[in-house]
Amino acid sequence: MHPMVKPALRRGWRDLNTVQFGMTPAHALTLGPVDTATGGFLDLLNGTRGLPLLREEGQRRDLPDGQVDRLVERLAHAGLLDDARGGGAAADALREKKEVMDRLAPDLASLSLVTREPGEAIGRLAARRGLRVQVRGAGRVGAVLAALLSGAGVGEVDVRDGGRVEPWDVTPGGLPAEAVGERRDAAARRAARRAAPDRPVRRAPRTPVEQNAPAEQGEQGFSLVVLAPRDDIAVYAPDPSQAAPLVESGTPHLYAGVVEGTGVVGPLVLPGETSCAGCLHLGRTDRDATWPRLVAQWRSGRPRHVRPCDLSLAAMVAALAAGHALAFLDGEWPSSAGVRWEVSVPGLDWRARPMRPHPACPCGAAGTAEGEQVSMDGEARETMAGQGPSSTPCRQADAARLAGTWRAHV
Ligand SMILES: [Zn+2]
Repeated sequence: MHPMVKPALRRGWRDLNTVQFGMTPAHALTLGPVDTATGGFLDLLNGTRGLPLLREEGQRRDLPDGQVDRLVERLAHAGLLDDARGGGAAADALREKKEVMDRLAPDLASLSLVTREPGEAIGRLAARRGLRVQVRGAGRVGAVLAALLSGAGVGEVDVRDGGRVEPWDVTPGGLPAEAVGERRDAAARRAARRAAPDRPVRRAPRTPVEQNAPAEQGEQGFSLVVLAPRDDIAVYAPDPSQAAPLVESGTPHLYAGVVEGTGVVGPLVLPGETSCAGCLHLGRTDRDATWPRLVAQWRSGRPRHVRPCDLSLAAMVAALAAGHALAFLDGEWPSSAGVRWEVSVPGLDWRARPMRPHPACPCGAAGTAEGEQVSMDGEARETMAGQGPSSTPCRQADAARLAGTWRAHV
């Protein structure tokens, strides 16, 4: 181990004996009391020295016996320590790719804020490269979302959509003006590739099952499918029959899109655990008996040539959905699980709408989540996503940080 005090957190002394790591309440911690000699030693924990060398330095500075190990242990326990050489074989391979590391350095630093174990941050970043995600829908939301996921290090981002790029699909970060008239899915895949010129070579050859799978069964092998349809009804009142293959195959999926003047992110559906499109439809029908009649009229109405979609609203939706998708892929439990986040122009304040599992829905989520907070450990996630990046229960870290600050005695 080459201990490194997480450089992502700014350091400041609150007084002679108390050091604060970080500025914002979400991740700031204070450590104390720390004597002056030990405080000066913190600068040596920068990832360039292994423990034996650090112990020698400690002796040279007349630190008491065992003080260096105690300091390292306490910092690690507080989640303040990273390991410049940790993270496993995939992380080692990633460190060799200097261009990728340079491009994703801010993302790696950010991951270090939400991970506890030394080396865990780069382990997560490396795991993203082995993941496959599908984005269905390549309009103003879907194309940007695909580019964000790709840019953030997801190894394979497959985009599905039909038709050709229309002038109103053009979005900063998404489909460029030059792509108007091209096949929409091909143009969106190109936008995703551009966001990560160094991403791993697409996995080939595919398994025979995948090669023979019809398009609607393309969910096989994906850790997550993002449903970002250009059709606003498909976002607001998703058709349970269209999501049925995803539910039946246990494929996690996330809804995102713009509906009139409202941006929608969620729910993230973890089949059998959180509410799905069927739960949503049944729940709405319970509360409003005319809901199915309205949905039928919306669906049968003449398709609109151009739908309302505020450009900045679409960008917000794409970014929030990508953030929730990445959190899920990293092994966290994002707040969109079983919840739909909505934001409307012109106020633009996000609000959460819980979507409860419905007892009559065949997805079975009501049986596992009724009246209680759904809990999940890393093992369950690995089963569900097929290739969970981390087996560490993620929320232990959050529990330790509930108060925003944490005091350790060194
Ligand atoms: Zn359901």
